[in-house]
Amino acid sequence: MISLSWLATRSSVRASTYPDCAGEGKRLDLLRAPRHRPPMTGKTNHFMAAALDEARLAASRGEVPVGAVIVDAEGRIIARAGNRVITDRDPTAHAELLAIRAAAAALGSERLANCDLYVTLEPCAMCAQAIAFARLRRLYYGAEDPKGGGVAHGARVFSQPTCHHRPEVYGGIGEQAAAAILKDFFAVRR
Ligand code: ZN
Repeated sequence: MISLSWLATRSSVRASTYPDCAGEGKRLDLLRAPRHRPPMTGKTNHFMAAALDEARLAASRGEVPVGAVIVDAEGRIIARAGNRVITDRDPTAHAELLAIRAAAAALGSERLANCDLYVTLEPCAMCAQAIAFARLRRLYYGAEDPKGGGVAHGARVFSQPTCHHRPEVYGGIGEQAAAAILKDFFAVRR
């Protein structure tokens, strides 16, 4: 979930901000900074594509276009959601939180230990904390969110000593597509 101020910065960002990174992604070592290549597979792109579909659906509802899916240990999508803040009149109805709730309900467990979350935008601090609470194994996200993100920016939730579960984090998965959806969404609103 991002704010309009995010776009004010973001929309003026040059395409060169994202050189040859389509679908490449990188693992973020949040404590030490070096970046690694993620365990990329066709499935990784498949799951992010599903999250991007949810982002587009969110846009069609007039929501900030962010989408998320949660995949279980067998590689099945067990939950998918897009932002529903306006639709549900709920400031916490971010795609990640909705997907976490749906996955926990589907599994009948408050812990999603062997599950991975794919989301089109860097999670905010609220969602990052929820990801830690859910004990998700891995987080894959698309575009970075310098203004509202809480993983690689801002609160850097997983890097804090008060964070008791740190998922593996991979940023930049399909980020060009995710950023394009956000940019298009806000372009028609100015
Ligand atoms: Zn959020």
